[in-house]
Amino acid sequence: MKELNQMTLVFDARSVNESFARVTAAAFLSQLDPTLQEIAEIKTIVSEAVTNCIVHGYGDQPGTVRLKVQIYEGRKIRITVRDRGKGISDIPQAMTPCFTTGNEDRAGMGFSIMQGFSDRIRVRSLPGKGTTVVMDKYIGGRDERSSL
Ligand code: ATP
Ligand code: MG
Repeated sequence: MKELNQMTLVFDARSVNESFARVTAAAFLSQLDPTLQEIAEIKTIVSEAVTNCIVHGYGDQPGTVRLKVQIYEGRKIRITVRDRGKGISDIPQAMTPCFTTGNEDRAGMGFSIMQGFSDRIRVRSLPGKGTTVVMDKYIGGRDERSSL
């Protein structure tokens, strides 16, 4: 599949940067003229993935998060979120709904939400090395919608 455009953003693992990351991804993808629902879904999956890097990947440790957004032919997008934090030892367990290693504020639903709002999700992780989440999504956009 041919890549048509891409952007990469690297930022400090601070919760104040979560909204920066999701708004930046949405702004970049506005060239595809996504629906409001698609924009909301994109912001949500970016937010969930970035929050996981900050909260679980790094905890209180300093670090950086890399967000990459790619646009492919056929209105396919790929969102890649990477940290160099502590990693995940059991990925299927981590992706199970309601599983969390976080505190009582955490519902363990981040991966389920990412799964629900993307068309494909892959997680690569090595304990001690970090975690990469790759999410693919097809953007229907307004053109196709208005022809429904
Ligand atoms: P919620 O997202 O609902 O606030 P949560 O973050 O615990 O809760 P998920 O996002 O589904 O739920 O993540 C499940 C678990 O996977 C986390 O509790 C954590 O143990 C692990 N995990 C997820 N992302 C990372 C990451 N980037 N680095 C290390 N561990 C992670
Ligand atoms: Mg989470």
